[in-house]
Amino acid sequence: SHTLIWFRSDLRIHDNTALQAASVLGNPLIACFAITPEQWREHDMSAIKAQFIYNNLLCLQQQLLDKGIPLKIVTVADFKQLPAALLSLCQSCNVTHIFANAEYGFNEKQRDAECQSQLSASAIECHFFHDQTVLAPGTVTKADGSPYQVFTPFSKQWRRQLPWPPGIAPRIKTQARLPIEPDPIDKQHFYLAPAPPIRWPAGEAAAYKQLTAFADASLRCYQQRRDIPSIEGTSSLSPYLAIGVLSPRQCLKVAYQALQNISAGEDKEIQCWINELIWRDFYIHILDLFPRVSQHQAFKAKTEKLPWRYDKKDFQRWCTGQTGIPIVDAAMRQLLETGWMHNRLRMVTAMFLSKNLLIDWRWGERFFMQHLIDGYLASNNGGWQWSASTGTDAVPYFRVFNPVVQGQRFDADGEFIRRFVPELRHLDNREIHQPPLDLFSQTDYPAPMVDLGLSRQLAIQHFKALD
Ligand code: FAD
Repeated sequence: SHTLIWFRSDLRIHDNTALQAASVLGNPLIACFAITPEQWREHDMSAIKAQFIYNNLLCLQQQLLDKGIPLKIVTVADFKQLPAALLSLCQSCNVTHIFANAEYGFNEKQRDAECQSQLSASAIECHFFHDQTVLAPGTVTKADGSPYQVFTPFSKQWRRQLPWPPGIAPRIKTQARLPIEPDPIDKQHFYLAPAPPIRWPAGEAAAYKQLTAFADASLRCYQQRRDIPSIEGTSSLSPYLAIGVLSPRQCLKVAYQALQNISAGEDKEIQCWINELIWRDFYIHILDLFPRVSQHQAFKAKTEKLPWRYDKKDFQRWCTGQTGIPIVDAAMRQLLETGWMHNRLRMVTAMFLSKNLLIDWRWGERFFMQHLIDGYLASNNGGWQWSASTGTDAVPYFRVFNPVVQGQRFDADGEFIRRFVPELRHLDNREIHQPPLDLFSQTDYPAPMVDLGLSRQLAIQHFKALD
């Protein structure tokens, strides 16, 4: 009999908890991946992310084959049809066990529960493993066992519980080649719409190379450089982490190695990056423990009463980078042109939409998912609810970023704005953040669509009224 290893958002063979466990079990392994186009559409999967998955699946299929493991493809419309499709694959390949790494969205959990119950009726055992986080959801709790809802105490407890040095799973062995052929992977399912060119090379080796290059070049000055969008001060590893081409434990291990050989002052730079990995864990824990956040609900129920606006025209101006606020427009155009946006600007644009425009954060969350190559439910939802002050440990509602000041601070010489808003290229470093009013009659660049001061006051009043 065979064990089926079901790959989802863990497209790698190194440090893969389920794959490692399956290989220890001893049965020969078969792998599978499920293409579910309707489900992807429903979950707002971006075209660029789908293509990136395709590129990485091709690499994974080859890597598995080198280990003697054939990758089969199951194609169904959505999750509901998976139990039957998997059963049929299991029956045709004599599979008795399915191993997979847990995913924490509400629909994903339901899918896994359904598969488990339907397949067990045919004597096929399903086993799910925690793999997406460094520490498993539900294991980092307060003394009374309740979950943390605030990041800083969570991160302190996380650090206390972390095995140090951090470990990764041993490599799996190569098995004798099975008389089962890998399936072709139909590219058309992954080409949903035109997408920006992908600047991340596919495959684990490329991802790992990027991780070590970042550790060598930028990790030691991460804290100083991470907020400046015109430079590559952050790792840009998020597309790999989102689909599991890289594990967070591999990242942590590299950070640990860097900590072994540091000069004065570098410790805090590296710890700052580790903190971002903890944020990632934190939001996955929240997603797992508070399923409402993946069902389009605010973490803080009372914020549902805010008079969110649903103005399609205003929303469209934000989506297309035509708000008249240069740093916001540059950021939105970065998203449209590259499929990625710098973290500082994700906060700035999200806050502009949810506070200055008072448009429902769920519209923005959805638009990000539809365009990000690293779209990741837990972090995207967490980031949006943080910015909109509706989430766990969210920014206090009265701390509304002024996007012009953010631009002046983090893009002081306007380099980033010039890159993405060519209409403003000729302006000097001061004017580029606040173009002179007579410019709007000469160019197509719009005047600011909203008064930043007044709209900020209004948002604060609405939030205050909830107290
Ligand atoms: P680095 O700074 O090098 O950080 C390393 C890794 O840590 C990242 O790759 C990421 O996996 C994780 N990380 C970093 N910051 C955060 C954070 N604030 N929350 C959770 N994890 C973090 N991240 C996504 O991966 N997918 C998303 O869909 C996503 N949507 C976001 C939406 C909003 C409104 C906000 C404010 C943030 C969002 N983030 C999201 C978090 C963050 O912006 C990105 O992870 C980061 O910009 C990726 O760049 P990097 O790989 O260079 O990060």
